[in-house]
This record gives sequence, C-alpha cells and structure tokens, in this order.
Amino acid sequence: EELLAHRPIRRLDKDVANRIAAGEVILRPASVVKELLENSIDAQATRIEVSLLDGGLKTIKFKDDGEGIHPDDLNLLCERFATSKMTKYEDLLSISTFGFRGEALASISFVSHLTVTTMKETSDFAYQAYFENGQLVPSDRLGTPNPKKCSGVKGTTFIVEDLFYNCPLRRRSLNNSKEEYRFIIDLLMKYSVRYPSVSFSCKRLESTKYDFFTPCVESELASIGSVYGKELTEELLEVGAFTTTFSFRGYVTNANYSLRRPQYLLFVNGRLIEWQSLKRAISSLYSSLLPKSSYPFVYINMAIDSHRLDVNVHPAKRQIYVLDEDNIVENVLHSIEAKLSRTSSSRNFHTVT
Ligand code: ADP
Ligand code: MG
Repeated sequence: EELLAHRPIRRLDKDVANRIAAGEVILRPASVVKELLENSIDAQATRIEVSLLDGGLKTIKFKDDGEGIHPDDLNLLCERFATSKMTKYEDLLSISTFGFRGEALASISFVSHLTVTTMKETSDFAYQAYFENGQLVPSDRLGTPNPKKCSGVKGTTFIVEDLFYNCPLRRRSLNNSKEEYRFIIDLLMKYSVRYPSVSFSCKRLESTKYDFFTPCVESELASIGSVYGKELTEELLEVGAFTTTFSFRGYVTNANYSLRRPQYLLFVNGRLIEWQSLKRAISSLYSSLLPKSSYPFVYINMAIDSHRLDVNVHPAKRQIYVLDEDNIVENVLHSIEAKLSRTSSSRNFHTVT
C-alpha cells in the first residue's frame, strides 16, 4: 500500500541542493586548499601561506598576496556559477585559468563558515566579509556591517571554519586530522614543483614553526630539490617531446634509484591530474626495471591543445578527457624508455633489453 502512495516530485530546497553539490567539489580539507590555491595562482599570487587547526577540519587559514577582490564583487563572490573568468560557453575552449565555473567559493561557503579579508593594491584599506550558504550574511542586530572595512595588506585571506559542520556523515568519516594534514602538505609539495616562482608554506595555526616551506626559486628542478631533496635531483633524467597537439617536459628517476613510495606529479595545462592510464603505463615500465617494492619519482608538465581537452569531467576537476589519449601516453612512455635505456647501467635493465 505504502508503495502505491503517490509521492509527488518536489523541488529540493535550494540550500539543500547546493550543499549536496558542494560535497562533490569539497571532499576533505585538502580539496579546500586545492581550490583556494588555484584561485590564488589565477590571481597572480607569489606567496601562499596555509595554517591549519586539526588538519584543516577545524580551521583552514589561507593567505595569498594576489591581486585581491574588488569590494563591489564581494556580493557575488560566493554565489554558485558566478565567476570573473568566463562569460560564454565557447570561452571553455580558450580558458587559461584554473577556475571557470564559479563553484569553489560557493561550495566552501555551503559546507563551512567562511570569512574573506581582501585588499586591492590601489585601495587604502581591506574589506572583511562573512559568508554562509553562498551569501553575505546580513548585518547582525548590533548593526555590524558585512562586508566591513578593516586594515590589511594587498591580497586575500580566507578563513574556513568547521568544515562539514552541516554534513554530519562526511564530518564523521574524516576523523584523522594527521592524515588530512599530510594530504595538504602532499598537495602543496606537488604544486610547488609546478609553480617554482610561488613560495608556499604550511604550519599548524597555533605554531610559528613551518612544517613545509619553499622559497620562490628559478626552476622546477630547483623546486624539486628544495621539496623532495637535493639527492633526488641528482638521480633525475629530463624527458620531453613536442608535437602539434601536445608537448611535455619533465623529470623522472633513473633505473638505479628508487623511492619506497611512488611519486607521480602529473600536470596538464597547469593542473594536477589523476591520470590513471598514464600512471599505470609508467608504473609498469618501472616495475620491470626496479626491485620489488621500489618506485619512481615522475614529474610531467604537459600542455595539451585546449580544443582536445575537457577538464569539466569531474566536480573536483581531477580527471580529464583527452582526444587521442593512447597516443599521448605512448609518446610519454617512449620518451622515458629512451632516456632510461641510454643512461641505465643497471643489471636489471640489461636483462630486460
Ligand atoms: P572560479 O575560480 O571558477 O571563477 P571561484 O568560486 O573559485 O570560481 O572564485 C570566484 C571568483 O572570485 C573568481 O572568478 C575570482 O574573480 C575571485 N577570486 C577567488 N579567489 C580569489 C583570490 N585569491 N584573489 C583574487 N580573486 C579571487
Ligand atoms: Mg576557483
């Protein structure tokens, strides 16, 4: 009888719909940091400072020295599908920024308490704004304006508090703040290789000591040295290729050297990507060369013609569709293979060739 009862189709409450969508973009504290750091790089920041309480579960303080946000834009800052980076669908083909959907800050504001302090270089003061569910919270009873003027320095600081306070299942599934902290450091390490001219740091909010710091350096190789260790850079081979539709450069470890855990830093058009097929191909090449339980370091910085690429596959933009993917994977593999065979003196390797 129950089954037959008519259950009418109803529109979800807007805030409920938005909170569900936000949960796909923001999976954990590291997703917040990734979205904020992509925005900062889009805003030409050269210095990014992250401070965390409970691995970001309680508080993420994220400061950049980018161009800042105009006070007139604060109203729409956290509204879903509001962006300064594209206006028409065709813009997707030529987009050179990380952002384009205007979804990140909205998503963050739907699953946390978000405070933004921002200042343009040309302004004499900063503005601080507090957001909830995509909107500037109206002035309180005491009449404190929102946004309000305050003192500050050029750039933008985001304070994200009580992540997933309104998504109890998600919040409970994230109970290891050490692990969340490691995820964030790992993300910052990878991005700092790809963006050597940006200085990154990360620390606990209550501490003055950095757990991670990279100065601004002149090359990706210098950055790898500063982040992953100077010894590693001495074991790296430079790889690369150039075609009409894509090109890449990168560094991979030689066959006489290995890590206890695999490191894949795969960037496509500036973005860190989970590229399973490429990873699998490279990993099987190395597994035939390296001893058991030892792995390579692989950094690939690839540029693909944006007409052949769809980054809009996954809400968190970690996956992509590429035309002719097999060809690209093969090309990268050849480049690595050629370098490995030319420089390797490993016994292992010679038994393979
Ligand atoms: P998107 O990046 O897709 O445009 P976001 O929600 O991430 O969407 O950001 C919305 C807008 O806020 C951006 O288009 C940009 O204009 C502005 N913005 C966000 N973060 C920063 C920042 N750190 N510095 C300057 N402007 C920013
Ligand atoms: Mg963005």
